[in-house]
Amino acid sequence: MKSIYYTETPLDTVRLGASLGRLLKGGDAVLLFGDLGAGKTHFVKGIAEGLGVQTLVKSPTFAYVNAYRIEKRIDREWTENGLGVGGELFHYDLYRMERGDDLTSLGYHETMADPRAVNVVEWADRLGDDVPRRAIRVEILAKGHTRSIAVDFAYSARCREKDVEAFYDHWQTPLHVRAHCRQVASVGQQVAEAMIRRGEIVDINLVYTSCLLHDMCRVCDFKTLDRGKFPEPITDEKWARWNALRAEYAGTHHADIAHGWLREKGFDDTAEAIRLHKSLNIVDDFAAYTPESFIVYYADKRVKHTEIVSLKERFRDGRERYGADNDAAAQARFREAEKRTLHLEKTLFGNLDIKPADIR
Ligand code: ADP
Ligand code: MG
Repeated sequence: MKSIYYTETPLDTVRLGASLGRLLKGGDAVLLFGDLGAGKTHFVKGIAEGLGVQTLVKSPTFAYVNAYRIEKRIDREWTENGLGVGGELFHYDLYRMERGDDLTSLGYHETMADPRAVNVVEWADRLGDDVPRRAIRVEILAKGHTRSIAVDFAYSARCREKDVEAFYDHWQTPLHVRAHCRQVASVGQQVAEAMIRRGEIVDINLVYTSCLLHDMCRVCDFKTLDRGKFPEPITDEKWARWNALRAEYAGTHHADIAHGWLREKGFDDTAEAIRLHKSLNIVDDFAAYTPESFIVYYADKRVKHTEIVSLKERFRDGRERYGADNDAAAQARFREAEKRTLHLEKTLFGNLDIKPADIR
């Protein structure tokens, strides 16, 4: 599925590029298509800004490729301390490429394989057989001053909605957990749609599928398992499967189990968004979030069982259910997580046309 955005000025194209830059992680590639003067370089300037590149991006038409250090993400609201993400941005422009020109000598294959690099390619149609299997595709069309900018995440490393049923099946996810996940997905979708209405690029399918799968391994770390307490009948087969899974993954948090399993299958983006839904990660690993993984995290904190509640209520419930047996240090971390999540809500909704209480 493609999302199409429209811009009327070069500055708006840069701004749109910045909203994509904020989503990117090391190892990501962006392919740009569009005629001369379409606005590809303006869009890349934005990507660089969103990533936190501090130097001015210039068109590398004569050099084929320019490299920029990613200093820190520019939008401090998102990362609070402006924590560094490290790595490099490689900006390719293949306009002058001719048949037989050697991409390898440009360093193309090396930078594409670098997990700390973000690669952006103008005139990506020149890549031929070297087109990466995984990339975000951006196609720009010009008509007067209007640019239609189609962004396609279909080739990124996330699972599709059609995978969800099979994964639930594999993990034998209980029905009430699936219902919780569906409600979280609905919240996530509403936030993502509101951001898109504001002209921000968001991979809404990544948000949606990550929400649907965030608790798929939940059975593995339920404190206790009581066969009689499930609304659905538990067959002997299901009971045996649950116990086998619990034995296999004993001691591992359900978010980390899902993360490892999805990565093995090549669904890195979904895996990462799910890894980060763990409540305390917002304290421990704040710099790892992208807007999408923030939305997944936030959406989960707005749903108690299947009911949409305020953050305050959900954190109160969490404290009551898990807090009692924790020591003072753990409780302080939990309070810090709550504080950051409230701040995240302010940041997320600061610019939107809906308020937290409008989520239904
Ligand atoms: P490309 O890299 O695709 O060749 P550039 O980004 O270098 O394109 O240039 C785009 C040109 O179009 C610039 O001259 C810019 O001022 C002009 N322009 C007019 N309207 C827009 C718009 N809405 N977005 C981007 N560029 C625009
Ligand atoms: Mg250009």
